[in-house]
Amino acid sequence: MRFIKAFFVFIAIFTPLRAIELIDGTELVFADSAAAAALVITDDDYMQRISAYDRSASLRTDREVSVAEYKQHLARNVRNWPDSLKTMFEQFARNHHAQLQALQLNLPGKIILIHTSGDEVGGVSVAYTRMNTIVYTDLMLAGAPKAALENTFIHEIFHVYSRHNRDMRSRFYEIIGFEIGPELTLPQDWFERHITNPDAPEMNCYATLPTEEGAVRVAPFIYATRPVYDVSKPGGIFQSLSFVLLRVEEKNGQIIPIMEKGRPLMINAYKTPAFWKMVGTNTNYVIHPEEIMASNFTFLVTGKKDLPNPEIIEKMKKIFLNKQ
Ligand SMILES: [Zn+2]
Repeated sequence: MRFIKAFFVFIAIFTPLRAIELIDGTELVFADSAAAAALVITDDDYMQRISAYDRSASLRTDREVSVAEYKQHLARNVRNWPDSLKTMFEQFARNHHAQLQALQLNLPGKIILIHTSGDEVGGVSVAYTRMNTIVYTDLMLAGAPKAALENTFIHEIFHVYSRHNRDMRSRFYEIIGFEIGPELTLPQDWFERHITNPDAPEMNCYATLPTEEGAVRVAPFIYATRPVYDVSKPGGIFQSLSFVLLRVEEKNGQIIPIMEKGRPLMINAYKTPAFWKMVGTNTNYVIHPEEIMASNFTFLVTGKKDLPNPEIIEKMKKIFLNKQ
């Protein structure tokens, strides 16, 4: 018994992780590079859906990249957290503790922060989530204003919440007109050029939009307009990223894109008033209902005023507080 006690003390003193309470029952933990390297190669909902394009854009190459090579690349690009950045995130957690606590969020016991070089996404400035981790790239940490890093932190907490409470997703997504169905089945060549958003890797969200030719069924989709990565150009995963709505139909129990001359029929969401009417205009980050709701969650937590569609925030809050 004494030995066990001594062992725990040893762990407590020498653990490479530093933690702070985000809300009751949820700690914010900083992964060191060894812990992070093990986490980023996990076969999670993201890793199970990555495409050939995801892997080659990540390595900024036009050749095929195997999953094993991709995982090595991810593991190579994790970094330790400098104390100054740990202090900054601890401050973010303190700044929003009361508001997050008041929403009675069911979060995992730990939310783990991972620091990367950014080369794992082809050298671009992004933050994203995997499992119960929030990943910040060096480019974002070095280049984005502190207020943007702080708002992003709250945005990412929604993704961690959403992944931890999958059964709640449909309630949030239906606020903005989306419903969850079976995963979209793509022809292989189109699957391999889709771009997987780690925050919303599943392609299973659908909406019905009124058009001049009647109501049509659509699915949000991001893909590379140039299916082979162009090594002469910059951009990483964003090099030729395009967000569209795919026209979809149900056939033999599967949801498939409607094809025309070998290409899926696409709608430009940005130029479709019915789409904006459906999702609201609080945010223009509308590539997926998960992202729209994560952005609205940030507005809810930070108490942003004068939003064009405050009803979205109100409905969201009621769901969290279980009053709807
Ligand atoms: Zn996001």
